[in-house]
Amino acid sequence: MAKVYDVIIIGSGPSGYTAAIYAARANLSVLMFQGYETGGQLMQTTDVENYPGFEEGILGPDMMEKFEAQARRFGTEMLTEDVTAVDFNQRPFTLTANSGEYRTRAVIISTGASAQWLGLPSETRLKGRGVSACATCDGFFFKKKDVAVVGGGDTAMEEANFLTRYANHVTVIHRRDSLRASKIMQDRAFKNPKISFVWDTEVAEVLGDEEVNGLRLSNLKTGEESTLPVQGLFLAIGHKPNTDLFKGVIDTDKAGYIVPSEFTTTNIPGVFAAGDVTDHRYRQAVTAAGDGCRAAIDVERWLVAQAEAERSTEGNEAGQERRPLRMNRTRNNEKPILTAGKMAELRRESRELRA
Ligand code: NAP
Repeated sequence: MAKVYDVIIIGSGPSGYTAAIYAARANLSVLMFQGYETGGQLMQTTDVENYPGFEEGILGPDMMEKFEAQARRFGTEMLTEDVTAVDFNQRPFTLTANSGEYRTRAVIISTGASAQWLGLPSETRLKGRGVSACATCDGFFFKKKDVAVVGGGDTAMEEANFLTRYANHVTVIHRRDSLRASKIMQDRAFKNPKISFVWDTEVAEVLGDEEVNGLRLSNLKTGEESTLPVQGLFLAIGHKPNTDLFKGVIDTDKAGYIVPSEFTTTNIPGVFAAGDVTDHRYRQAVTAAGDGCRAAIDVERWLVAQAEAERSTEGNEAGQERRPLRMNRTRNNEKPILTAGKMAELRRESRELRA
């Protein structure tokens, strides 16, 4: 019979790798589907300077390499392919990928969210060289420079305001003549003397060879073209959570973000979610990593509870008195964790009861 993993993690950003480190270190058998694009959004980030522990900063891809190595060190198996289908109707769950079917007791969804881009070839070419979709990550690099933000929602206003801490001037470019952002966010942006607005306008091209040095703009009402000299372009036109695979199965909000039922649990017992796939508010590597840790601990406890319930049922069926389960304890906290030894013990006891 095919191997049944304790947990399969879908996605290889900071939340997925952190979940893998915690789960594998707790001796659970862990398989991670890294996806064809491993490492998530950080693979498109240059310097990461706000992740604790890297006082000199670290390149996004280098950081993801370290996350991966640490997860491998504790025995996480990894596959660089996408999951193409999930069957959460019965446990163990079945996940399908090109290489076959995989069975697991629990699943952590950490598929992340993808920033929306304009889709211009010049934008793609200059990503990480002045084009960014994260002001919190990259704003620092634009000290005393002129930058532009595209979008008219809360994120655009937030990013524009944030960027004024560093930038000389921020121009918000919006495709309509009124903002979608909440009134309070609009007011804050309108009152900021370092922010100006260009209405009814789209970016037709990002200019610059090695780095951004301007934008070719097109007025959508008049068709008039103009050039805006800036050294940075920040896209704030929304994020798309990567939840298509779970549509109709896992509860999401209107925008498609997974809504945790409690802690990191979803509406399906045994399926957990962590990181940007559940979070449109913070979207930071460090918050995603923290979330991955929470999900792994929730999985461990859930597996313990499942094993205990199973054992109790079997004990009752065999007419035996239920004994309290001896728990292992982590070094840093007093919460119980399920180790492979504990799983083996539970399975052995379960077999004995059946015999
Ligand atoms: P959003 O509300 O969907 O706004 C996206 C903006 O980008 C809209 O103004 C939209 O224009 C524009 N846009 C979309 N596609 C475009 C394209 N191809 N070219 C040019 N412009 C384009 O997304 P968001 O601002 O990221 O916010 C997402 C959710 O998070 C919202 O519910 C928001 O309230 C929430 N949020 C809250 C806070 C906060 O409370 N502090 C901060 C950030 C986000 P149109 O207006 O013309 O459609």
